Amino acid sequence: MVILKSAREIQIMREAGRIVAQCHAALAEHIQPGITTRELDRIAEKFILKSGGIPSFKGHHGFPACICTSINDVICHGIPDYTELQSGDVITIDIGVKLDGYHGDSAWTYAVGEVTPEISQLMKVTEECLALGVQQARPGNRVGDIGAAIQSYAEGYQYGVVREFCGHGIGRNLWEDPAIPHFGQQGKGMLLKPGMVIAIEPMITNGSWRSKTDQDGWTARTVDRSICIQYEHTMAILEDETVILTQL
Ligand code: MG
Ligand code: MG
Repeated sequence: MVILKSAREIQIMREAGRIVAQCHAALAEHIQPGITTRELDRIAEKFILKSGGIPSFKGHHGFPACICTSINDVICHGIPDYTELQSGDVITIDIGVKLDGYHGDSAWTYAVGEVTPEISQLMKVTEECLALGVQQARPGNRVGDIGAAIQSYAEGYQYGVVREFCGHGIGRNLWEDPAIPHFGQQGKGMLLKPGMVIAIEPMITNGSWRSKTDQDGWTARTVDRSICIQYEHTMAILEDETVILTQL
């Protein structure tokens, strides 16, 4: 069931989203070779608590940390540990913040030092995929319009569009209806309406779209070890505009 949000609720979610964006900005300054993902998790947790929020992911279905740190072939849900970042890596940091009962959710991929031109292009195209998805997130369109725009653009570069993990509605719960696949058919799926708040979060690979999960039960990787990039924003669909909530 889709839960439409009032202007007041969207205002709270804007504040939750702002903390998410500020936390990303704070972490970005620390991303360099040698730092561990566990240190990044500690910095994020301190930042979120100091801002008056609660880390949404900690304990969510038993997730053991405050942020997800997904390096190179990890698609999502990487668990912070003592792994040190190395020059040439890409790391996706996914941050969720709960404020006054409502969540904000945004993931961003960062380059560590210099990455190859191939990875730079994958990053650029994935960011464009998010923008194309956001453009389709407007009243009167359907969920399938979002996925179709992302899929056709990414596949034009022979990239893989991860199927197993989707975007989602968000509000008092981190994951609400509708699910927002990043593939699909134009004109299909649920109608988008004003008051819907959703997260769009394409995960795009330079190889297969297929994934497998590590023995830890969380870490999802590409089956062919190809690189995966992800950008995610939480946004509110209004009558006449779509407002991204997780940016400064
Ligand atoms: Mg999400
Ligand atoms: Mg997320």
